[in-house]
Amino acid sequence: MKRVLLSIFGLFLILSCNSQKDIVVAQAPATPIPPSTQKSGYWQQHVDYKMEIDMDVNTYQYKGTQQLIYTNNSPDVLNRVYYHLYFNAFQPGSEMDVRSRTIADPDSRVGDRISKLKPNEIGYIKVNSLKQNGVTIKHETVGTVLEVDLAKPIQPGERVTFDMLFDAQVPVQIRRSGRNNKEGVALSMVQWYPKLAEYDFEGWHADPYIGREFHSVWGNFDVKLSIDKNYVVGGTGYKQDQPVIKGNKKTLHFKAPNVHDFAWAADPDYIHDTMQVPNGPTLNFYYKSTLSAEQKENWKKLQPKTVELMQYFSEHIGKYPYKQYSVIQGGDGGMEYAMSTLITGKRSFGSLVGVTAHELAHTWFQFLLATNEAKHEWMDEGFTTYISNHAMDYILNQGKKKPLENAYTSYIRLAKSGLEQPLTTHADRYQLNSVYGTLAYSKGAVFLAQLGYVIGEENLKETIKKYFNDFAFKHPKPLDIIRTAEKITGLELDWYLIDFAQTTNTIDYSIKSIEESTITLERIGLMPMPIDLTVTYTDGSTEDFYIPLQMMRGEKPTNATLIKDWAWAYPTYTFKTSKAIQSVQIDPKEMMADIDKENNKK
Ligand SMILES: [Zn+2]
Repeated sequence: MKRVLLSIFGLFLILSCNSQKDIVVAQAPATPIPPSTQKSGYWQQHVDYKMEIDMDVNTYQYKGTQQLIYTNNSPDVLNRVYYHLYFNAFQPGSEMDVRSRTIADPDSRVGDRISKLKPNEIGYIKVNSLKQNGVTIKHETVGTVLEVDLAKPIQPGERVTFDMLFDAQVPVQIRRSGRNNKEGVALSMVQWYPKLAEYDFEGWHADPYIGREFHSVWGNFDVKLSIDKNYVVGGTGYKQDQPVIKGNKKTLHFKAPNVHDFAWAADPDYIHDTMQVPNGPTLNFYYKSTLSAEQKENWKKLQPKTVELMQYFSEHIGKYPYKQYSVIQGGDGGMEYAMSTLITGKRSFGSLVGVTAHELAHTWFQFLLATNEAKHEWMDEGFTTYISNHAMDYILNQGKKKPLENAYTSYIRLAKSGLEQPLTTHADRYQLNSVYGTLAYSKGAVFLAQLGYVIGEENLKETIKKYFNDFAFKHPKPLDIIRTAEKITGLELDWYLIDFAQTTNTIDYSIKSIEESTITLERIGLMPMPIDLTVTYTDGSTEDFYIPLQMMRGEKPTNATLIKDWAWAYPTYTFKTSKAIQSVQIDPKEMMADIDKENNKK
């Protein structure tokens, strides 16, 4: 997801931040949880959606039937279930509206616009009937959540069928989804259907839709969409068969295996281009024929770059497992969805590649590694920022020494401002949108980049690949990335997760004194770190040293001179070199997010 601080990505990036047959995906086991994960106690719920949607492109209203087969893989008896009704956020007085009008730095795309929507401009999903295994059940719409009292509790291992009829209206485009966005795209259909909330070992996650972030159940989608026959439709899934045309409408049939979301966009003026990734998916590009000649040219030039991005992420994280990916003009910035992204299209070439790199990277960090974004927003935005900045550097030959430099700068500025909140904060409950942005995007990116400093770059690369192998198609937690790094390295790293992601402790190491050949360092900040150090001697030669952090119980691979451990509680650390010292530099590569660099050199 989703939105970006210009300072993070440079001027050219504004993000919002989030057709073939055969549904078999080799790497994607559909329902059963592999035995290896059962042993570890991990389980996850499963859904199979079947929906038939009838869209009226003149009134922007649609009717839907939804059959949902829900498998309770949890060890618990469920007495209630919850659905998200996200479109209800786009109504005057909704939590999204009020939060936007009361936060000190509202998202300019929202502002007070929701409060001014007229009845025929609001969004809504009205549930007309709901049955559990054929029996009508009680349900109540509470804002953006449908609360459902079950007729009969769902037992562990049981599979039940919910049948729903609903009416809905597409809101005027405010945030992410809607009709007639500012670039004139008719329908940006995201978070548009009644979506079952996720239940996991932490319980229900029926979060109201206030600002951002999504979390839902893995499963399979079968969607039939009836729409004006002149509309071109792109999005999640694989188109089945030829459209069935009746009168002025056509019915399109999509299947999407092993996803946790389904999004689409439609417009009568879409150009549809495709490009094949060698040994990979087909890429689809949907953009308006009404774009300027230069903008259309940018969309053409984007296509081979998207191939390169797909190859970069597949190589550095894990192979893209679906058969198609669609880059679609729509939405209000950039936001990631299943097998697709909606991005605004009136962009320079650099901006178009930048936003595509970011949103495509989310396919791995959010979509396939489906962390609960509301609770661990830094694991999707931050990790995405980390990998997409590296990918951009690579495919555009930017030659940056530090692709994450801006992320470090933003995080350190916030850490010193006194406004920082811990990364454990719920995505909706930061004091300011800008604080959310800096922490989720920048500090989250620094988390990974700096982990490379702690464990070594090669170990970080291995960690990312193993994290994908072990947790794709699941809901990984913060502990999973750090345990993966521990398994790769044999080091103890819990302190890194605790201090950097669960507190606002900061890093500040300094050079306290140098006397002839004796150096004394000081730990000023509370956060522990191992130390890379370069000493320049009076004879002009240099020597790199590495001071292991004792609680790590080991060290990263290094060519530096290994000296004794530093146990965290000791505020100072003294050692002697073999020759007289000219100067000393802590962390010469600046990979540590030390909040005061002035005292790192003497
Ligand atoms: Zn994002």
